[in-house]
Amino acid sequence: MDFELTAEQRRSLLEQLLTDRLPDVQGRFGPYGGCYAPETLMPALKRLAVVAREQLDDPSFQAELNVELTQWVGRPTALTYARALSLRWGTSVWLKREDLAHTGAHKINNALGQALLARRMGAKRVIAETGAGQHGVATAAACARVGIPCRVYMGAVDVERQAPNVDRMQQLGAEVIPVESGDATLRAAIDEAFRDWVGDPEQGYYLLGSAVGPHPYPWLVRELQKVIGREARGQMLSLAGRLPDAVFACVGGGSNAIGLFHPFLGDAEVELVGVEAGGRGSGLGQNSATLVTGTPGILHGSLSLLLQDEHGQVQETHSISAGLDYSGVGPEHALLKGIGRVRYESATDVEALDALRECCAAEGILPALESAHALAGARRWAAERRDGVILIGLSGRGDKDMPTLSRLLHADEDEVVT
Ligand SMILES: *Cc1c(COP(=O)(O)O)cnc(C)c1O
Repeated sequence: MDFELTAEQRRSLLEQLLTDRLPDVQGRFGPYGGCYAPETLMPALKRLAVVAREQLDDPSFQAELNVELTQWVGRPTALTYARALSLRWGTSVWLKREDLAHTGAHKINNALGQALLARRMGAKRVIAETGAGQHGVATAAACARVGIPCRVYMGAVDVERQAPNVDRMQQLGAEVIPVESGDATLRAAIDEAFRDWVGDPEQGYYLLGSAVGPHPYPWLVRELQKVIGREARGQMLSLAGRLPDAVFACVGGGSNAIGLFHPFLGDAEVELVGVEAGGRGSGLGQNSATLVTGTPGILHGSLSLLLQDEHGQVQETHSISAGLDYSGVGPEHALLKGIGRVRYESATDVEALDALRECCAAEGILPALESAHALAGARRWAAERRDGVILIGLSGRGDKDMPTLSRLLHADEDEVVT
């Protein structure tokens, strides 16, 4: 598969994105996206695509969502001028503080929006899957608030590794099901969650956590995360008096990045940079830099870029941050790379750790290890181009990463083993 686009196609696809004509009715973002799911799920996905569009266009849904975003999530989140980082980097640095959102990251925007949607669709239960547990926690909290029971599938290995998040989910009333099959991590949990939904497509609502998966999820998650960029753009104009020269976000599945970037897509003068996990280095299996090094293929219901070998075998990934440790990426990012509107690069484990420590010491903010990748990319940009104005998406807070950070604090830097 090769999707080289001509200059004319690139222009046309950007125009279609800006005028809300992508994804198309088949859920395609140009050559990417679509809906590759078992036949048994097609009716449920089609219904979701129609109802989600209706609801998101409905002023009463938006009003209900806005009340909850304000009163329960704590939106709008702050835009913080990073005074000390600005001095050190020689460029004005602004941070969009999703770490201040309820449950500590941007994931709640999506979990809440979809939980409200599930209730409006008459669902009796929510089904979700989680890797590191952050999406599971956000979903458990949102379902408790909205009043729908929730079941979270999680690989048995992850249940072990992420015990505090399992307890948090249970505390919030969710039922956590350890999955022993397959690799007993996220991939097996996704299979199991889909199986559950296939068996109960009417009463069950499948709540997906990033801008990935079959149509309509990449679109739906982006619509629910766009609030980040909408707020940040307005805050930049009112607090900095101008738009940024460049915007940075970390990219795992791509939800916080697409939410931050989308409202800036039409601002041609604003450079957009997605930063992936460079892990331990460029070897296959050593990183999760899907957009930087991946090739087209189908994973979890959509056509996008992914990390695979020459036989199409999906590769193991590595990142110090669990939230970026995924071999696929949302199809809209594959398109944005293809048309050249967003530049994607990677930051290694060590670079991210370095940036995390600098942000802690200079600003008194402990960012998530995921978010630290965006900081590392921004720092590199600033080293090359002084006197700019930049905006960085701080997708979450780092409290959850303390076990990893504590281990490193007491070990040698070079033995970064996660
Ligand atoms: C889950 C997570 C991410 C990665 O997910 P995206 O869908 O790429 O945004 C990034 N940052 C934090 C804090 C997370 O919890």
